[in-house]
Amino acid sequence: MKLYNIKEHNEQVNFSQAMKQGLGRHQGLFFPMELPEFSLIEIDMLLEMDFINRSARILSAYIGDELPLERVLARVAAAFEFPVPVVPVSDDIAALELFYGPTLAFKDFGSRFMAQMLIEMDQGQLVTILTATSGDTGAAVAHAFYGLENVRVVILYPQGKISPLQEKLFCTLGDNIHTVAVEGDFDTCQMLIKQAFDDQELKQMLRLNSANSINISRLLAQVCYYFEAMAQLPQPARNQLVVSVPSGNFGDLTAGLLAKTMGLPVKRFIAATNANDTVPRFLNSGKWFPNPTIATLSNAMDVSQPNNWPRVEELFRRKNWQLDTLGYGCVNDKATANTMREMATIGYISEPHAAVAYRLLRDSLKPGEYGLFLSTAHPAKFQESVESILGRSLPLPPALAVRASLPLLSVRMPAQFDALRHLMLSLAK
Ligand SMILES: *Cc1c(COP(=O)(O)O)cnc(C)c1O
Repeated sequence: MKLYNIKEHNEQVNFSQAMKQGLGRHQGLFFPMELPEFSLIEIDMLLEMDFINRSARILSAYIGDELPLERVLARVAAAFEFPVPVVPVSDDIAALELFYGPTLAFKDFGSRFMAQMLIEMDQGQLVTILTATSGDTGAAVAHAFYGLENVRVVILYPQGKISPLQEKLFCTLGDNIHTVAVEGDFDTCQMLIKQAFDDQELKQMLRLNSANSINISRLLAQVCYYFEAMAQLPQPARNQLVVSVPSGNFGDLTAGLLAKTMGLPVKRFIAATNANDTVPRFLNSGKWFPNPTIATLSNAMDVSQPNNWPRVEELFRRKNWQLDTLGYGCVNDKATANTMREMATIGYISEPHAAVAYRLLRDSLKPGEYGLFLSTAHPAKFQESVESILGRSLPLPPALAVRASLPLLSVRMPAQFDALRHLMLSLAK
């Protein structure tokens, strides 16, 4: 698989390099040169297969030239060892539940696949994973790489801006997992990470790798569950499918659009955000004007400068698709809470992120269409807000209950690159 840097097309790398490098020059994102496409017959065949075998085929369409199918299959089987159910919510809407991995959010798919790919393609070399999280990425990355030999992980997160439970989930592991509470917001954390990757000395000395949602290996992994959703739907729904994606950094939406470029017949996507609505405002006005990040109930989507957005634009450009065919909208906290209560009355307990996607889906679904929204996290992961909004108690799943009782191991850091640099170099000693 060959990829090019969106900002500098003559920088070209293969999958393994793109995965290890994360970003290209000038912080450019890598994008596939070839967009593989299955025929209608192949799509039908794929939809007949089981999740693991199908996912190996999908991923091989991209990386088959660097890793034989049976190796991809073995790695996929190790990474995706949990169910991915489509659960009906109403007559014409279903949830794709992506929260049965070890950290109860969809980010387990990308992180675990990336960890498998790094082990497969980079045997024996010490790498440092440096990533920023607004909650779920950190947990998924920490758990995916925890205890792996030759991998050191440093995770930055905004102090006081993620849920206490989320913090417990990834800041209590220790061993090769180092967590840093930054005195700033998520965008500040992302900026520090970018600076670290621009620091050639640091980058080479520690062999830095960002495992965040800009990593191409994570995006490719996520393509697989859009196919799985389609496979579980009856034929009439498949032909009229509208998919609503709760979006922060827009990695998940990029993966869904990639699935479409491969031939998955999704009629329309909806880019659903919370009050951090840079993209909806852009799609409405054509003007890119990020506001300061606002803290919301759906805090994993509190991103005002979404990292993956240039890939969405590149994809539309390459396919000659019109950006105005992309559905969009934003949902504020009040409407999110109301939607969660509405969903509860029809028997579906949702956390805030999925509720944002559901709300825009049910508001824009046309007669005859079938709607699917991504249920990106287990409701218990957002226990405090779900309990207070729904007025009922939610038991913690065992994975969370165990972590909740352990002490935090994070260090606190001012939002300054010097501080991060110092900390990183001390790890290398
Ligand atoms: C990360 C996350 C999102 C946003 O996904 P992006 O790929 O960053 O757009 C939505 N919901 C939950 C629960 C998340 O953790």
